[in-house]
Amino acid sequence: MSDREIALVTGASKGIGAAIARELATDGFNIWLNYRSDHAAAQVVADDIQAAGGRCTLLPFDVADAEATAKVLEPLLVEQTPAVLVNNAGFTRDGIMALMSQEDWEDVLGVHLNGFFNVTRMVVARMLKKRRGRIVNIVSTSGETGMAGQVNYSAAKAGLIGATRSLAAEVGRRKILVNAVSPGFIATEMTADLPQEKILPMIPLGRVGQPEEVSGLVSFLCSERASYITGQVFAVNGGAHI
Ligand code: NAP
Repeated sequence: MSDREIALVTGASKGIGAAIARELATDGFNIWLNYRSDHAAAQVVADDIQAAGGRCTLLPFDVADAEATAKVLEPLLVEQTPAVLVNNAGFTRDGIMALMSQEDWEDVLGVHLNGFFNVTRMVVARMLKKRRGRIVNIVSTSGETGMAGQVNYSAAKAGLIGATRSLAAEVGRRKILVNAVSPGFIATEMTADLPQEKILPMIPLGRVGQPEEVSGLVSFLCSERASYITGQVFAVNGGAHI
């Protein structure tokens, strides 16, 4: 049995989550890699981690589905407690408010807010018993400032920022540190269709970010060097929101 610590990363089959999983594996964590549907992409990440000498367990489930989440996590948590949880799973369903369907509103709140709740409630209960843990929530510039066409997404991410701060206040005495990382425009599937000519003028650094430019900060927040940081929101946005 390995005595390496576990990091659970949600939404890690691709994009920012995959970069976080790879980097935390390099840092020495065994990875519990959650994703929803892209088995092939998740397997590539797991193979890369294992080829580099790490360990990775694939955990496909929909974080917005409380029952499905409990079915996968409950038996695992009886045996082991992750030292790190990164709530990253998510998607957008953009559109102007006047035309937004009930479904697009509920699905976006569901994945970001219910997803956070479903996974974190179970994991933090175990971390409280261990009296240690790190939780990082991936939020967004949209949750910090207004973004036309993203009322659902902004509401979800702003809500997650509030949850980050309250949970940090709640569990700090048990040495569980809770922070949020807030990316701007990062090159992933989520942003692949956005028009570059509209985005780039909004970014002082003049380019979109790479997933590895987000995962580096997450890695730091999960390290011993970040032992006095909790309840904070850290932007990685090339200056898009200052
Ligand atoms: P991405 O490349 O589209 O990847 C999204 C990941 O989340 C995939 O692994 C996907 O799994 C998983 N996922 C989606 N819904 C899920 C669910 N219900 N249950 C479990 N897993 C689910 O997205 P990304 O750009 O890396 O975004 C990652 C996070 O960063 C999101 O929370 C997003 O809001 C945030 N963010 C992104 C940007 C950006 O510019 N890219 C900016 C700010 C914040 P499958 O594909 O396997 O289904």
